[in-house]
Amino acid sequence: MDATRIGAVEGLLTALVAEDDALVAARTATEVTTPGIEVSPTLGKLLHLLATVRGARRVLEFGTLAGYSTIWLARAVGPGGRVVSLELERRNAAVARRHLEAAGVSAWVDILCGPAASTSALLVERATEPFDLVLLDADKAPLPLYLDRAAALTRPGAVVVIDNVVRGGRIADDEAASDPDAAGARQALATLASDPRWDATALQTVGPKGWDGVAVAVRR
Ligand code: SAM
Repeated sequence: MDATRIGAVEGLLTALVAEDDALVAARTATEVTTPGIEVSPTLGKLLHLLATVRGARRVLEFGTLAGYSTIWLARAVGPGGRVVSLELERRNAAVARRHLEAAGVSAWVDILCGPAASTSALLVERATEPFDLVLLDADKAPLPLYLDRAAALTRPGAVVVIDNVVRGGRIADDEAASDPDAAGARQALATLASDPRWDATALQTVGPKGWDGVAVAVRR
């Protein structure tokens, strides 16, 4: 693929996405543990639109990083809503809180620090009010578990989005089993295809970060 043309097209598409200073700061943050792995601007905007179309009041996010996708989602739910974001790293959570503050959304966002397997289990245990939209964008190996948690924490009609489900095509390799992230993504897609709780599709994407994909599911 021609990287220069992909970059030029991305420039045209990004013109559809109006980012203010707070979004740009969150997207370009370097103090986090792994800079540059946030969703693309076009996916951020898609998340915002999906939450808006769904009329989402409550959003659950796995993987906060510097708060870039969190800001898109928090702006969609507005001050009457709630976003709960699950993040492993204290350092990232601290950086994200600063960005959420600058974006003016921190009053309706909670970041729960710790492994998402545990914090999401806690939300299930506490019978937390169901979420309208869930973004799965933390580690990929446990995606099947996270999908199960998403089912437990939503009602029919809720939307689930999973980023990075194609992984440069590695999910199609026989050796996907030796790549835990590719194996997790592949298994999650298989679950979405076979589990009657989900009605789903997935799109392949190409951009400056390479060849990947996003799955969108609706809870039946
Ligand atoms: N959604 C963010 C955005 O688009 O701005 C990007 C999230 S980044 C791809 C993945 C994040 O998940 C990282 O901040 C990482 O520390 C966090 N993470 C990794 N493993 C995790 C786990 N087991 N539990 C919770 N968070 C985890």
